[in-house]
Amino acid sequence: MEILFRDKSLIPIWNKLLNGERLTFDDGLALFRTNDLISLGKMANWFSYQKSGDAVYFVLNRKIEHTNICVLSCKFCDFAKKKGEPGAYEMTTEEILSKLSSGIREVHITGAMPPDWKWERYLDIVQSINDKFPEIDIKAYTAVEIDFFHKKFKKSIEEILIELKNAGLKTMPGGGAEIFSERVRRLLFNQKIGEKSWLEIHKTAHRLGIPSNATMLYGHIETLEERVKHLIKLREAQDETGGFLTFIPLAFQPGDTGIKPKNNFTSAIDDLKTIAVSRLMLDNFPHIKAYWVMLTEEVAAIALNFGADDIDGTVGEEHIAHDAGAISPMKLAQDRIIKIIKEAGKIAVERDVFYNPLKIYGRNIIGKIPYLNSIPIYHNLKIDSYFTLPLFPHRLGEMMSNGYIDAGLISLVDYLNNKEKLNLSRWCLSSREKVQSVLLFSKYKLEELENKKIGITDETSTSVKLLKVILEKKYKINALFEEFHQPKISFQEFDAVLLIGDNALNKYKAQNPEFNYKFDLAEEWFQWQNLPFVFAVWVERKDLLPNLSDDIIKTVELNIQKNFDELSAIVKQYRFGVKLTDEEIIEYLKGFNYKIGDEELSAIRKFEELIRETK
Ligand code: SF4
Repeated sequence: MEILFRDKSLIPIWNKLLNGERLTFDDGLALFRTNDLISLGKMANWFSYQKSGDAVYFVLNRKIEHTNICVLSCKFCDFAKKKGEPGAYEMTTEEILSKLSSGIREVHITGAMPPDWKWERYLDIVQSINDKFPEIDIKAYTAVEIDFFHKKFKKSIEEILIELKNAGLKTMPGGGAEIFSERVRRLLFNQKIGEKSWLEIHKTAHRLGIPSNATMLYGHIETLEERVKHLIKLREAQDETGGFLTFIPLAFQPGDTGIKPKNNFTSAIDDLKTIAVSRLMLDNFPHIKAYWVMLTEEVAAIALNFGADDIDGTVGEEHIAHDAGAISPMKLAQDRIIKIIKEAGKIAVERDVFYNPLKIYGRNIIGKIPYLNSIPIYHNLKIDSYFTLPLFPHRLGEMMSNGYIDAGLISLVDYLNNKEKLNLSRWCLSSREKVQSVLLFSKYKLEELENKKIGITDETSTSVKLLKVILEKKYKINALFEEFHQPKISFQEFDAVLLIGDNALNKYKAQNPEFNYKFDLAEEWFQWQNLPFVFAVWVERKDLLPNLSDDIIKTVELNIQKNFDELSAIVKQYRFGVKLTDEEIIEYLKGFNYKIGDEELSAIRKFEELIRETK
């Protein structure tokens, strides 16, 4: 993509991004200080496209603030009251339940910290919602609240989180981070936890399998340097755990806080810059949210072309922001959100709390597997009037089967299950011998896995079937399978674990002290069947108009050819998140075959036959 930079000092930063290099503190500061807003937005939009394609996510959600009675008195807070003060309130579990209804997919629960609630009351809220509305994902309690529970109820952070998880907690919100600066903390919220505790609580949650969000409160007394440092600290934490789902910059609402004059809110330029810089600095965060409640609908809509790929949701009640003067309406209807996203030239994707797609509001969509191994097909793939949506293979198969996606590379098993709706085209993702990115890490040899517990990633359908076929038909082994959701960083509870894609690739050469053995499933298959293994195939919906289908086929063909000719230049852009040198990436990609030939067709037939014979 060409950008005509007015601020030439941005050119080296753009080159770094094109070469897959991480941005530094100085780069972050230069991005905040530039007046070349349009170039900044284009860079961030490009970066967002690499992660999320044309998708913008939203969720049908409800926000509940169960009480505003708080033992603390943070200077920037217009929400909290003392017990007995006019306007102070506490909600019972029944009142909370009465605010929910079927159709809502996510409830976001936070609140103030009352002096006299018992631990059981917090657990009861989560458990009761989970019992009455099992389909609603519960995102609850910021790190500040978790720390409050830990101190008040004399339980370790782990105990608090495990009890909440057992009651039904799925993820944690990112609030309470404010800005990671001891200077600001002392001035504005000196009773609240600082960066060390906030980060430690989130990392503990990630280790326990509870993903979370992260925030930054900006536009008060912080400096630009403090903003960049905040982003870098979050990036480092994400390198460690991979457990953050999304980052949400929160624009400060002055209200009657007295920190700034009432109407001295952040400018739209500052909001857009902060979204864009966050997208570019947080290269390891999957999503950046434009939180419309605080930004306003108008700014949030523009932010979707400044690096944001999430607009939050239909929300519900949002007392903290509104009591401090936010001007957005209390409820933004679903169709209004969809309209905003469409007007921004993106596809609206309704999601759950983990960003699994539930519905897509748009047409002409090409599905994309977001792994390194598919870049020869997808790099610079532009099909006229088509949008691109990256999804994990299994989700892609589901969305294609539901008719949301027109064409793309999908997991072989999903094609086999939907043959009546899909045409097989001439491309695939197949490998002879080693593939390096479909791996079983195990404490035991394959022949010793009888009745052992194997963790399987929910990203794949084909690799799981392949593993089952190999164990059952080749080794006569019956194992116990348990699905887990990525990101997951500890696999202690399993005897073996199946990983695919870039997660597997990153572990391929690394030391994995948890497991003694590593098995490459393509190699196992090849040694057994003397055939390549076909992991994914390019398909198109059968009801696609013939001329559209022809266009897609021709474009993909030319694209693959061009990308292979320029592979050494292209791979540089894909270094983010992959722990391989350029040479190793090229060697890895050359290990794949992208065209379906007679051998691949025989391999597909053989695999289909074996699946039918497997339990
Ligand atoms: S920001 Fe949170 S912790 Fe601080 S006073 Fe307000 S409700 Fe209490």
